[in-house]
Amino acid sequence: MPDTLHEPVIAMEGVLRPTRLEVDLDALADNLAAIRRRVGAVDVMPVLKANAYGHGLVAVGRLMQALGVPCIGLAYLEEGIRLRRAGVDTPILVLGGILGSQIPAFLEHDLTLTASSVDKLRAIEDCAATTGRRARVHLKIDTGMERIGVHWYSAETLLEESLRCRHVEVEGIFTHLANADAADPGHARLQLERFAEVLSFYDRRGLPRPRCHAANSGGVLQLPESWLDMVRPGILMYGVFPSSEVARTVPVRPALTWTSRVVYFKVVRPHSPVSYGSTWAPDRLTRIVTVPVGYGDGYMRSMSGQAQVLIRGRRYPVVGRICMDQLMVDIGWDSAYNDDEVVLLGARGDQRVTVEELATWAGTIPYEVLTNINTRVPRVYVGRWAERLGLTRAG
Ligand SMILES: *Cc1c(COP(=O)(O)O)cnc(C)c1O
Repeated sequence: MPDTLHEPVIAMEGVLRPTRLEVDLDALADNLAAIRRRVGAVDVMPVLKANAYGHGLVAVGRLMQALGVPCIGLAYLEEGIRLRRAGVDTPILVLGGILGSQIPAFLEHDLTLTASSVDKLRAIEDCAATTGRRARVHLKIDTGMERIGVHWYSAETLLEESLRCRHVEVEGIFTHLANADAADPGHARLQLERFAEVLSFYDRRGLPRPRCHAANSGGVLQLPESWLDMVRPGILMYGVFPSSEVARTVPVRPALTWTSRVVYFKVVRPHSPVSYGSTWAPDRLTRIVTVPVGYGDGYMRSMSGQAQVLIRGRRYPVVGRICMDQLMVDIGWDSAYNDDEVVLLGARGDQRVTVEELATWAGTIPYEVLTNINTRVPRVYVGRWAERLGLTRAG
């Protein structure tokens, strides 16, 4: 098992910290299959940026390789290098903007670059020419996101330049939708029209188009016209919907169960405030348990006064401010003991705490909840795919 899986946590067997994130790889495999069924003959490029949306980059990367995806999408160069070092040889497209100084590392690790301007494309061509390596590139067109990419109304110079490059393989061309998960498809359709206009360049010259792509999860779910040659689902592959208003046309299920354990039990007198800032105090004699997880793990402090957890199949409120490494739970006059499991995210019995709930409590979106669960929390892989890939050992 590559030790890159667990960095930087020291996870010796038997002394695993009580807080852990269980990742059901079978759920991810089933979600990918459901997305593939939805888009039919169109290729699916899963997006594994930000530690695979918190699920663990290397493990999910190895799963995607085993499932035969044509390409993996990432945000940064260093994510790509990490997957390469873990032995994943699937094509990898780094979707984000790049610095000129990074180009040699892209070529060295056979990572596909996003060329988002004429200058960057020329820099890639020059680097490929001097190092004698071939560069694989996808061209990025901005059709209404104003993030990276050449504007659709001045894209022709980039496409023309790409025809002149001798050491660059233009394998794809893409854009990104700003509102694909909205109830109103208006802006997404406008972006797609602009993209089609750019793509007509190839038809007008009788040239074959590179592989065209535009759809994120929202596009997969509700905009078939955005699928083109390939789709780029991120959050949907992890079993979470990109917004509350998006059409839920693909059956997916979440893969994460985040748990910890009770490490302390005490009885607190009425009006004795709990935690920093003394923001909360019980109005009655009550039982409070302490759990060794906090905002330093990604259990966000902004959920203080809102969050709930499951203990022994029942929901209880997190009380007082969430600390960096600990939080307190009011269990009323119920029983809980040291070592009892505390579920922060996921299901036990007929109770379930969802990513959407955590996002609401924190005043944010599910994406941020997932990507905030940081590397201090050990990932534990479960399911038949975890076994097949040799990832089941706790750690
Ligand atoms: C993050 C990202 C995606 C995936 O987005 P989801 O909403 O998670 O599906 C697709 N394409 C690009 C360019 C991205 O940055």
